[in-house]
Amino acid sequence: MPVEINGWDPDGPAFCTNQGKVMALMFFYELHLHTAETSRCGHSTAREMVEAYVRKGFSGIVVTDHFVNGNSYARDPETWKEKMDVYLRGYNAAKAAGDEMGIKVFFGVEYTHLGGNGEDYLLLGLKPEHLYHELEACDRWSIEYLCDAVHALGGIVIRAHPYREAGYIARAGIERPGLNIDAIEIFNAGNSSELFNAKALEMALRENKPWTAGSDAHHVNTAGLGFVGFETDPRDYAELCEMIRQGKACVMYRPKLNAE
Ligand SMILES: [Zn+2]
Ligand SMILES: [Zn+2]
Repeated sequence: MPVEINGWDPDGPAFCTNQGKVMALMFFYELHLHTAETSRCGHSTAREMVEAYVRKGFSGIVVTDHFVNGNSYARDPETWKEKMDVYLRGYNAAKAAGDEMGIKVFFGVEYTHLGGNGEDYLLLGLKPEHLYHELEACDRWSIEYLCDAVHALGGIVIRAHPYREAGYIARAGIERPGLNIDAIEIFNAGNSSELFNAKALEMALRENKPWTAGSDAHHVNTAGLGFVGFETDPRDYAELCEMIRQGKACVMYRPKLNAE
């Protein structure tokens, strides 16, 4: 069901309302969120996250926990298979909760490129099984090779918060203009400065790439602060990815009210 924007969130106005008047009907999708089961920095469980997005009227979410090259419990085990078993804990729990509560839950990855400067990429449109086979040991691949592999599997690659400055990012704002990515996250609600989002938007304009937004939620309090809306509901994950590639994802965000 599309969401009537003035009724979707009791916490405050979303960006396409004006004094409560509905400006558009949209299907809401979260493209960037973490769970406590898999991400070391995650504070809410997958089930709590799913509940939060159901409450806010979302049609679907993509779970993008930190991968083995990031802040993930999946770093700990010895073998690749065990690492992937741990990695999928958050997604599997979210999927089970989503099936119960009637919201679509899709599988994604937040991949930190350690060979570069710690820049992050969201990998969408993959299947969990790909991790065990086609993507085995992908944490050591070059970012160019990774992009090709994800595309060959029918997925897409989104550059996440390219200008974020944080301890784990050696050098923010590294530019890779020739890299075959599909979109750029021009609004990330987890960025500590609005300037990082403005610079990401400038990058997307320079490189002529489609836009996305994400909450980068690590806690239910920040769920749904940045997201995308579609005029028609994608019928499956492949179509959602294709709509992003075609620039049909409307970037949306909501300011955090009563922020601590
Ligand atoms: Zn994190
Ligand atoms: Zn993230």
